[in-house]
Amino acid sequence: MHPSIARVALPVPLDKYFDYLIPEGCFPVIGGRVSVPFGRQTLIGIVVELVNTSEMALTKLKPVNHVLDDDPVWPFQLYQLLKWCSQYYQYPLGDTLSNALPAALRKGKAAEFPVLQEWSVTDAGREQLMLGLGRAVRQAKALNFLAVRPACSETLLAEDISKQVLRDLQKKGWVTVCEKQSRQMPWPDHLENESEKPRLNEEQAVAVATVNSDQGFHCYLLEGVTGSGKTEVYLNMIAPVLARKKQALVLVPEIGLTSQTIERFRSRFLVPVVVMHSGLNDTERLQAWLAARDGHAGVMIGTRSALFTPFHDLGIIIVDEEHDASYKQQDSLRYHARDVAVMRASLEGIPIVLGSATPALETLQNALSGKYHHLRLTSRAGSAVPARNRVLDIKGMYLEGGLSAPLIAEMRMHLQAGNQVLLFLNRRGYAPVLMCHDCGWTAACQRCDMHYTYHQLTQDLRCHHCGSIRPVVSQCQHCGSQNMVTSGVGTEQLERHLEQLFPEYQTIRIDRDSTRRKGSLESALESVRKGEYHILIGTQMLAKGHHFPDVTLVALLDVDSALFSNDFRASERLAQLFTQVAGRAGRASKPGEVVLQTHHPEHSLLQVLLEKDYRHFAMMALEERQLCSLPPFNYLTLFKAESNDARQAEEFLRQVRHTLEANPVFDAYCAVIGPSPAPLAKRAGKYRWQLLLQVSRRATMQQLLVSARPAIQMLPLTKRVRWSLDVEPHDLS
Ligand code: ADP
Ligand code: ZN
Ligand code: ZN
Repeated sequence: MHPSIARVALPVPLDKYFDYLIPEGCFPVIGGRVSVPFGRQTLIGIVVELVNTSEMALTKLKPVNHVLDDDPVWPFQLYQLLKWCSQYYQYPLGDTLSNALPAALRKGKAAEFPVLQEWSVTDAGREQLMLGLGRAVRQAKALNFLAVRPACSETLLAEDISKQVLRDLQKKGWVTVCEKQSRQMPWPDHLENESEKPRLNEEQAVAVATVNSDQGFHCYLLEGVTGSGKTEVYLNMIAPVLARKKQALVLVPEIGLTSQTIERFRSRFLVPVVVMHSGLNDTERLQAWLAARDGHAGVMIGTRSALFTPFHDLGIIIVDEEHDASYKQQDSLRYHARDVAVMRASLEGIPIVLGSATPALETLQNALSGKYHHLRLTSRAGSAVPARNRVLDIKGMYLEGGLSAPLIAEMRMHLQAGNQVLLFLNRRGYAPVLMCHDCGWTAACQRCDMHYTYHQLTQDLRCHHCGSIRPVVSQCQHCGSQNMVTSGVGTEQLERHLEQLFPEYQTIRIDRDSTRRKGSLESALESVRKGEYHILIGTQMLAKGHHFPDVTLVALLDVDSALFSNDFRASERLAQLFTQVAGRAGRASKPGEVVLQTHHPEHSLLQVLLEKDYRHFAMMALEERQLCSLPPFNYLTLFKAESNDARQAEEFLRQVRHTLEANPVFDAYCAVIGPSPAPLAKRAGKYRWQLLLQVSRRATMQQLLVSARPAIQMLPLTKRVRWSLDVEPHDLS
């Protein structure tokens, strides 16, 4: 008998499914979309089960409106992966599934390439062309156009040839139309552009051979210093996969998806290389998604969310710069794309390669313990030599725009030699504080209790936490004095000082403010590469994956705050940043130099980083993490709550704590810390609290969350506060 009820996961923040009657003649499938009535709305959901009984009375059930798919939207393993994500990250399945779909499918568009109408000229049409069409100018234009090549309606419309003209021609029998599925390009016989391939060095060759000789699921860490030729290794791992008619997925950090990267893949492979990132519009996203699913695309390069793209036959996953923070989604489904990618590779039975110069401590630990296979590239490819590092003690020194005199002198030397200088300052705006010189009053965002950053170019005060903007104040609001001064240095101010210090050199500032416009980052990077600028100012945007061959001096102006942060990952991030930024300096013929300004040259972290390397730092940091029972030796879940009322968020988390502790799964391996105020204790007028759950076994953490969450959701305060739960959080603020 036909099942009579479809159980549907809907994009609503509720942990339950909804039952609908299946009307006569309707055939929903599990994993396919249906549109259903929900209250007064119509929603699109995914069928998760087909059944014959419901807890609801049958008379109360509404029927499904439409069945949108005859086949599941995702292949089986990907559907399993999404279900796993929903469960692991404790996020409702309906929302998880819905978020994994391209927006066009979420809105009900068909999950296939549109059928195109292709127009062409008939023999009669050709004859008529010879005879001429007299005054029918539009018809003549259309016939002439089509006489050269058949074309689809969209192309013709772009040529200003209307449907009406085509229909008139069709009635006369001069043109004909046929339907054609778009995008059915067979792969070329030749998949690779051999002329571009450099000879691999020995370490590269070993890495490539190791991965290529294996099939089935294996996880590799490719630890290669910056410039060691990791991308070249990826290309060599992908080639044999394509030769087996399988596809490759390459994940890159958000900022790393530049046209340079894409071009490198496109010029090497002759199969279609598609791109998936948040800058695409709905149609472009759907097209890339379909191209992967239907096997037209050979390679997909994409950011975090590309991970949920279906493939016709996926053969390998590469995660470049696997340590990058942008792989962790910070809202809704708080997944880590690297971790989920490993899960996907395991479900699909294919190899996965995690590449980085500065592996995350979690990943490194997995490699050290033998869970992942460790591949290393220890030298720079080609003839480049490693950069020289130097720490500059700036205690008591006069700083001009954040620059010490020795650094200014050093810069002059490099600039005079015709090279470029990169200054790294992770603080945008003119100054982080605007203060009254007479009484010390500071301009602060009332909604966050944090200082406003003064932006001189726009003449306003901006809160970097909630985004609020207000006009700059010229008078102290406490004592009325007009003696307002700034304190601290941001990138705008540094830029001003550089224009005065080095008027003969061009300076460019690359931060979020200067690159807001679409494409502006690309064009800035391009002009830097062309040598139009000599001094580059960058925030951490510039730290990732950009190669500037003429930069020979990199300076980090102010990193001291990271040395004393209370976020246990701060030192790891600083070490990664330092190593990555240092890796930008000096290529091939031009040796690079890295200068780090600090008030704490004796700090052990800086010592290890400067005198040894990231690897030594990482080993030291892992030991420390083990001593303190921190990840990767322990698993964390962060409960966050915020409310307008100062006490409710705290009270809610106190109840969460009791609920957790009262759960039978809670044992000696579990501990709860808090509730405590979040490091950013107030944001946009809301008070923020958090509660940290520490469990030494991953499975226990999962069991505890699964078993305690329903009770937490029943707490009366859930309706009064905004709360969330972050499994394996990355950002503790
Ligand atoms: P990474 O991704 O590790 O930073 P890339 O793959 O971008 O390094 O390589 C750095 C540079 O070295 C690139 O210009 C690349 O073309 C070049 N390169 C890589 N491998 C080789 C090789 N075996 N021989 C010569 N040049 C190479
Ligand atoms: Zn004052
Ligand atoms: Zn604010």
